[in-house]
Amino acid sequence: MCGILGIDGFGDISRELVLGLTTLQHRGQDAAGIVTLDQSFRLKKGVGLVREVFQPEDLARLAAPMGIGHVRYATQGHNDLFDAQPYSVNYPFGLAMAHNGNVINFSQLRRRIFEEHHRLLETSTDLELIVYTLASELERCDPSHLTPERIFEAVEATQRRVIGAYSTVTIIAGRGMLAFADPYGIRPLVLGQKQTPQGIAYAFASETACFDCLGYRRIRDLEPGEAIFLDRQRRIHSRLCHRQRQAFCVFEYLYFAREDSQLRGRLVAGERVKLGRRLAETFRATGLEPDIVIDVPSSAYFFASGLAEELGIPYRRGLAKNAHVGRSFIAPTQDERDMMVRQKLNPITPVVSGKKVAVLDDSIVRGTTSRHIVRMLRESGAREVYFVSASPPVRHPCIYGIDMSLQREMVAAAGSLEQVAGRIGADAVVYQPLSALQQVYADLPCCYACFSGEYPIPGSEEFLAEIERERECSKMA
Ligand code: AMP
Repeated sequence: MCGILGIDGFGDISRELVLGLTTLQHRGQDAAGIVTLDQSFRLKKGVGLVREVFQPEDLARLAAPMGIGHVRYATQGHNDLFDAQPYSVNYPFGLAMAHNGNVINFSQLRRRIFEEHHRLLETSTDLELIVYTLASELERCDPSHLTPERIFEAVEATQRRVIGAYSTVTIIAGRGMLAFADPYGIRPLVLGQKQTPQGIAYAFASETACFDCLGYRRIRDLEPGEAIFLDRQRRIHSRLCHRQRQAFCVFEYLYFAREDSQLRGRLVAGERVKLGRRLAETFRATGLEPDIVIDVPSSAYFFASGLAEELGIPYRRGLAKNAHVGRSFIAPTQDERDMMVRQKLNPITPVVSGKKVAVLDDSIVRGTTSRHIVRMLRESGAREVYFVSASPPVRHPCIYGIDMSLQREMVAAAGSLEQVAGRIGADAVVYQPLSALQQVYADLPCCYACFSGEYPIPGSEEFLAEIERERECSKMA
């Protein structure tokens, strides 16, 4: 999962890019990068957080009216500077691109690019494949007639070749800014605008929270398969290039997106309250009678408040979070993950002591976080602990850009509710039923593959086998 931002504005937008990327920081903390275009591309990338990568002297060098930025959460490739985004090429046009998602026909495309275009990849990221595929399609265009129509044809050919989830933003030097989504619209991308003294500036971003902080107004989300091109006069051209049945990633609402963002017109916080309320029915059916509902900070707050309201039970903050500890989920070993959870969360003993506690989290994947939380709550005197997941059981790996580990590591993959409860040490485990989630999104076709195993893109299962093999190998390396 990553965050992307593109700004086509006036004067110097480098500071806006840095601020904007900071609001997308929750989408990726491994690396950050910006490329701007003045007379030439100017690039700065680094490993770490946005505030660590960009220093005041970088801003002076990046000063330009147009640029794109990226925050990286490594799902493909290595977590080093080499694989950080954006990525640029200078033939047949100057192109600089950033993307969010995951290409699944990686090996196939890499072979084709070598055999047909004699190009070897420089990085191990899927972004380079998208860039070269688009570049090879644009190569067929007459440079003196690079019209929006010709660009859209190149995008359509790219979308037909590149299989997977991708939302992209690209600078085509001297021509404009291009954004396009994969045919299923799996990852979010929003277009916004801002009135400035010099005219209307435009931006593309993964989430609207970024617009709020930069003063842009959301115009609309990109549709599945859509491309939008802003030409040099900042006229908007758009086309549904290659559209398939929409499959928006439901995990964006459950976990990834910030609560103050609107995705496909729905406020994430509101969605989470709704999903928390939905859980009440399933919870009541268990006959459990908790004294309080608490959340695992911070993504689960809205679920917990919705559930507590609906059950008529007090919501309390029962766990304190240290915001300065990195993400435990992607620590490489189980020992490190265990230690990080301990540093990150601490029970507020008087709140939970002697109580029957229902604790809400957005999801249970390996069960590392939940097992620790249950143990800590018991050590703090909780009488009973019911672990409640706002998501249905995660049983299948995501191959569209969320690193969810191998199927054999998933605690719900081969176990009953009682077995999951046993493994995490809880008195009971309650999951959101998949049918309830699907009812909430009855009018927004979503991807539920990590819960159901039904992958929306044909052929995904074959790529999944290949991806799992690669993940197994990289874990052993
Ligand atoms: P686990 O500890 O493996 O069961 O993971 C579940 C916890 O990790 C939950 O608290 C989630 O908030 C978080 N989480 C779930 N999926 C992801 C992901 N793909 N990347 C980072 N964190 C995640």
